[in-house]
Amino acid sequence: MNYLGRQRKLAASLGQAKVAALLVTHMANVRYLCGFTGSSGALVVFAGDGPSKPVLFTDGRYTRQAADEVQGATVVVGKKSAPVEATRVLLRRRVPVVAVEANQLSYAAFQQLKQLLGGKTRLKPLSEVVEELRANKEPEEIEQIRASVLLAASLFPVALSAIRPGVSENLVAGEMELQARRAGAEKMSFDSIVAAGARSALPHGRASSQPIPDKGFIILDWGVILAGYCSDMTRTVHVGPVSAVHRKMYKAVREAQLASLEVVRPGATGAEVDRAGRQALEKAGFGAFFTHSTGHGVGLEVHESPRLAQGQTHRLTPGMVVTIEPGIYIPDEGGVRIEDMVLVTESGCEVLTPTTKDLITL
Ligand code: ZN
Ligand code: ZN
Repeated sequence: MNYLGRQRKLAASLGQAKVAALLVTHMANVRYLCGFTGSSGALVVFAGDGPSKPVLFTDGRYTRQAADEVQGATVVVGKKSAPVEATRVLLRRRVPVVAVEANQLSYAAFQQLKQLLGGKTRLKPLSEVVEELRANKEPEEIEQIRASVLLAASLFPVALSAIRPGVSENLVAGEMELQARRAGAEKMSFDSIVAAGARSALPHGRASSQPIPDKGFIILDWGVILAGYCSDMTRTVHVGPVSAVHRKMYKAVREAQLASLEVVRPGATGAEVDRAGRQALEKAGFGAFFTHSTGHGVGLEVHESPRLAQGQTHRLTPGMVVTIEPGIYIPDEGGVRIEDMVLVTESGCEVLTPTTKDLITL
């Protein structure tokens, strides 16, 4: 991964934001910038194109790991916590203004930093600086994401053969998760959703001990982490005879998903992509049942920038990887969601998820 390039880009954008440094405390951002995968640490990146290398502060549990993993940054294994050690360096270097990650730092941590810096270095909250860099994936990242998507997709047949009326949702999720580990995944990228029958009307129905009923929809939403990169996909299948209403519901969501996919290209806004699917569902009479946004970026985290939702005016650019996942949820009746991962290309988009969207009945 091109850690030096990322550090350089960040240093330039900090200069534009008129801060002398950024204290990176969100671990996915730390990993993105220097390769460190530990769960505790903080990275200081200095603004501009000066000679100051970033500095990673961590503790004795990570001495060996940091030495093995960190690229382009000086490692300081401190006796005190990472923020305490970092403030010492900021004060010693007389940094006038340091930015902190406004969306990531707790109020308590902010107050602690303020106290340690004693007014000599000012704190400035900044949002989404590293996240914006992360939104556009490098070719090497796209390859990792492709592999993660394919591994996730390979679990769908496992789910299909596990689904039977009477077996628990947990068992279906468990079979998928065992196969994920066998195939090399580090773990699932979130708690797998297996929501059957009336539970399919819950947009986030995590797998439960409920047995699969003998008829109705089953929403399966899952993903894996492979070499740090997440995947995320949803398919909805049906057990038992499909009623006319269920057929209509499935068709509407499938068409809405295709309508949003049609809009994904450089220059389109998150709101436009969202609107295309939403309008299709409104036309089919299901608009009121689409109760969440259309999609999100995926990378080192399963939910990251950009967001595809009403009011999102940021424009898509090549290299972004997003989900397209409209759904409808009708209480007591059931729900349908279809989710693919999509790469924004120079001319449009490439659907990365290879799995069929035909309605599968079991
Ligand atoms: Zn999902
Ligand atoms: Zn998703």
